[in-house]
Amino acid sequence: MSDATDFDLVILGGGMTGLTLGYHLTQHNAPGSADKHQSLILEPRSDYSRDKTWCYWQHEATPFDEAISHRWHRWTVSCNGHTHVSESATTPYVRVDSARFYEIGQAAIAASDCVTLRLGDSATQVLPNKHGVSVQSERETFQACRVFDTRPASIPEGILLQHFVGWEIETDTDVFDPTTVTLMDFVPGAEDIHFFYVLPMSPRHALIETTHFSARVLDETAYAAEITDYLRERFGLSDWQIKHRETGVIPMPRHAPNLSRRPNSRIVPLGLHSDTVKPSTGYCYPHAQVQARRQVAALFTEPNATAIAARSRLNRWFDAVFIGFLEQHPERAGEIFFRLFKSVPSDALTRFLGDNAKPADYFRVMLALPKGTFILQAMRHVWRA
Ligand SMILES: Cc1cc2nc3c(=O)[nH]c(=O)nc-3n(C[C@H](O)[C@H](O)[C@H](O)COP(=O)(O)OP(=O)(O)OC[C@H]3O[C@@H](n4cnc5c(N)ncnc54)[C@H](O)[C@@H]3O)c2cc1C
Repeated sequence: MSDATDFDLVILGGGMTGLTLGYHLTQHNAPGSADKHQSLILEPRSDYSRDKTWCYWQHEATPFDEAISHRWHRWTVSCNGHTHVSESATTPYVRVDSARFYEIGQAAIAASDCVTLRLGDSATQVLPNKHGVSVQSERETFQACRVFDTRPASIPEGILLQHFVGWEIETDTDVFDPTTVTLMDFVPGAEDIHFFYVLPMSPRHALIETTHFSARVLDETAYAAEITDYLRERFGLSDWQIKHRETGVIPMPRHAPNLSRRPNSRIVPLGLHSDTVKPSTGYCYPHAQVQARRQVAALFTEPNATAIAARSRLNRWFDAVFIGFLEQHPERAGEIFFRLFKSVPSDALTRFLGDNAKPADYFRVMLALPKGTFILQAMRHVWRA
């Protein structure tokens, strides 16, 4: 750390990405190590509580695995009256309890002598200068060599959005099959891409989500009516208790933010509003885990490495082609997802969706897609991704 610098690194936002980065920094900055990166995480919340349900296919262990509350080895996709059941013995679909996640992150940081989590304070101005970056917070000004910026950003107009509302409910009778996740239950004849997601924690306890892919979010009442109708029609329920609600809007840009084209080399945007989220799926948690681990390792091995992209150019290109297809042919989305889950072996597909695909996995995915339409989309996106 130079004399002119308060911190080597300032992380804006102590949410999922910020705490994951913080955790890895605590592990690299081993006690007694000479090469310490003094880091500060600025987070406006004054305390943490459970606010989200993070699910993903787990391909590798993470330091937050103690926060995994459930694992499923079966999931379904339904469209036009057909249901396909996928299974994987080796790659479970897991649910992370966000409250436990925050506890693990906070405990690691509290035990560290080089990462500080400052709660109840927000960044108000971030300005590059000749020494690095000046970060003004509500209470103080800091000088940093580098900044990782995970703050939410405004979403560009007109792009596809994944918008959803979820209710975690309890019922008085056994209703749900706790062995199988309903990943996508497509609504026939919907005006946009619309499906339900059911995460069954027990026969009487599940998260039910209504999800749309479209450019405009709906009124709160519309999502509530959709979930109510689904619970009545799909599960024959007339009564339930809502234990928890969550809502989200995830950007699905064709041309996702590109870290190599960011305006300032010392300010690295990460997280849901940068390249971390996979735009074609909306999954962000597993990508943040891998990116944060690699990013922090790079800080300690390559002094000039400032930005590690979440995915390869090839994966970005696949995302752009797929989103282009969804924008042009929303009425075919259900059929295409159904084909993918039915035709591609589960482990190959989840590797592809997790950006871990092997060459043969890409080939299998391409074979499962309608050739003509996808070739046209692919030509529109010739290597711009
Ligand atoms: C309801 C919901 C469910 C989701 N489910 C899944 C899922 O199942 N699987 C999956 O992979 N992804 C999921 N996601 C997407 C994604 O994983 C989450 O949004 C995740 O929290 C993104 O992490 P992040 O660090 O980018 O943002 P956050 O976790 O939101 O962290 C950003 C942080 O920045 C802080 N901040 C705001 N303003 C300032 C400021 N001025 N200065 C400093 N800090 C600031 C915020 O307080 C916040 O803590 C879900 C998203 C939502 C909203």
